[in-house]
Amino acid sequence: MTDLEQRAVAAYLGLAIGDALGATVEFMTPREIVVAYGRHDHIRGGGWLHLKPGQVTDDTTMSLALGESILAQGGVEAQSVAQAFDGWMRSKPVDIGNTVRRGIVEFRRTGRTEVPLNEFDGGNGAAMRVLPVALATFGADPATIRQAALVQARITHHNPLSDAGTLCVNAMVQLALSGTDRGALRQGPVADLLAEQPRFAYEGKPQENPTGFIVDTLQAVFQGLFATDSFEACLVEVVNRGGDADTTGAIAGMIAGALYGLDAIPEAWRLALDGAVSERVVTQARALIALAGQH
Ligand code: MN
Ligand code: MN
Repeated sequence: MTDLEQRAVAAYLGLAIGDALGATVEFMTPREIVVAYGRHDHIRGGGWLHLKPGQVTDDTTMSLALGESILAQGGVEAQSVAQAFDGWMRSKPVDIGNTVRRGIVEFRRTGRTEVPLNEFDGGNGAAMRVLPVALATFGADPATIRQAALVQARITHHNPLSDAGTLCVNAMVQLALSGTDRGALRQGPVADLLAEQPRFAYEGKPQENPTGFIVDTLQAVFQGLFATDSFEACLVEVVNRGGDADTTGAIAGMIAGALYGLDAIPEAWRLALDGAVSERVVTQARALIALAGQH
């Protein structure tokens, strides 16, 4: 594998591992997590969804649906992605966010692939599944990257904070894939986000019990990422804040996976991840980064 390929695989494994690790403590407070597990750092399943150890949730399975559509079309096509999300919802996923459900139901009803602008609906659902776009458009021109990330986002989420957060996560993953350090992520995509949307300012008060609001979610991710210096420490730090922990874990996992690479992922976590999911994410990561090479 080239360096780029191994970082792409690590990003996708990181997404799935962060999802599986965080899901155990989703909707718990940090205090409740301490009482139940001490420091939660094992993939053990359970949680409010009663998951098997290593099982993933919507964060990973929606990403896989998006990635399959991109590979089938050779790029991000709104109609195909909307149909993939529709099929995903029909498959009875273990969890689904309200905004995602509403957007897919709207597509079924109207055939439209972009929901109306909603100032109040800044959920994290579009950002949590953006990884396949980051991989497939790696090295493309900025306008193409932006368009692809927003096409997939607006099938369910159309909100300035969601758009900005989704583009930032996409940019962070792509910069990390090129083999950079945390400082470059902070000075590049994160600084750009803060300049455009100051509400994302994350320094100061630790974001505990982050909600599914994209601002809360990304504040927790940034704090975890910039306070640690390894894949493992980043994920443990982020998920032990509880709240929407499968999604903070998934987003931190994709960025940290790309940043620290495959060798940094603890073997115990890789082995604990559901085997079929592990195989699918590795295969899809390699296919999507190969597609990027064809630009
Ligand atoms: Mn989830
Ligand atoms: Mn979640």
